[in-house]
Amino acid sequence: MDIYDELGVRKVINGIATVTVLGGSIMPPEVVMAMISASRNFVSIDDLQKKAGEKIAEWTQNESAFICCGAAAGLALSTAACITGTDHAKCSRLPFTEGMKNEVIIHKLNRNGYDFAIRQVGTKIVEIGTEAGTTPEDMENAINEKTAAIFYFYNISRMGGLVPLEKAIEIAKRKKVPLIVDAAAQIPPVENLWRFTRMGADLAIFSGGKGLCGPQSSGLIVGRKDLIEACALNANPRCYIGRPMKVGKEEIVGLLTAIRWYLNLDHKKLMQTYEDQVQYIIDEFSNNPYVTAKRNFPSEAGQPMPRAEIIFDENSLGISCDKIMAQLRNGEPSIELARAGANSIFVNPQTLSIGQEKIIVKRIKEIISNPMNNEK
Ligand SMILES: *Cc1c(COP(=O)(O)O)cnc(C)c1O
Repeated sequence: MDIYDELGVRKVINGIATVTVLGGSIMPPEVVMAMISASRNFVSIDDLQKKAGEKIAEWTQNESAFICCGAAAGLALSTAACITGTDHAKCSRLPFTEGMKNEVIIHKLNRNGYDFAIRQVGTKIVEIGTEAGTTPEDMENAINEKTAAIFYFYNISRMGGLVPLEKAIEIAKRKKVPLIVDAAAQIPPVENLWRFTRMGADLAIFSGGKGLCGPQSSGLIVGRKDLIEACALNANPRCYIGRPMKVGKEEIVGLLTAIRWYLNLDHKKLMQTYEDQVQYIIDEFSNNPYVTAKRNFPSEAGQPMPRAEIIFDENSLGISCDKIMAQLRNGEPSIELARAGANSIFVNPQTLSIGQEKIIVKRIKEIISNPMNNEK
């Protein structure tokens, strides 16, 4: 009996991804232990932030780093930082930005739900390009004296039509406008922790509760020292725009520990585990004439990791993909998988513990072999 049983909340096998709706990721025991240890004493939050930031910057080869309560908070804080700098008077006025730099440039193709976090600071989004594409001139022409920042949402699978990142960075540098990369779901690969800032991005933002396996309510901003200082100024414990996005001592220590854990992982071995889980699924269905399982690459967020796609011959099986997914969700244990094509699903090993791929295969086999399926 655990707290979820006590509350009557169903526990879920998550084969989708590090999605917030299912709780992000699972923290390794040493992260949880570090959080317990952090919970036992009072400390100065500013002192803890400063020292944790210094360590993380050193480990990730960045000038500076800051822990916030999620990548979305990182978007809001970094936006605020670009508007206010370290001017307290400006901080105290947000989200009212009259008379300040308050325009943020985003590719039309990059618009997504998370840009609410950029808008909530009081910015006006200036879209560049069209669905068909964007030219470097579109970006250059959008920059003016009111431009606070350029945001770039990185996802290798969805960057056709964007100004290439290298080019965008060159324009931003020449025009002296900060360029910020949203790389929330871009771990793995581990190198991304320094890759974007080395390329010349002013800041890069990562979710703590996705690939890093830190607390779900944690995020990481890395990059330019002056901008990180401005992020910190806008954040808890000061009562500015970031105050409702408070990150606690437990999350700060938790994410610091998760980053150290993640950097020390055997990344090759982890990828091999994912490959093995995917291969198991492929092998298990290789003799079924109505089910095809194959390796799919890269992940939904464009990360270099494999997942399995399972394709169902709905007519021959007598059951639709929708019904299979519903039975997986409502069965015992509850299994959540993402839709792939019209009659297929993905199984993503990133959020599966070892052995859960076997449970998923077993449940799918049970569901598709039910003799009731063919009865209308
Ligand atoms: C997940 C995600 C976020 C939000 O991250 P949180 O840590 O959950 O706040 C922001 N941007 C992108 C592109 C994401 O995938």
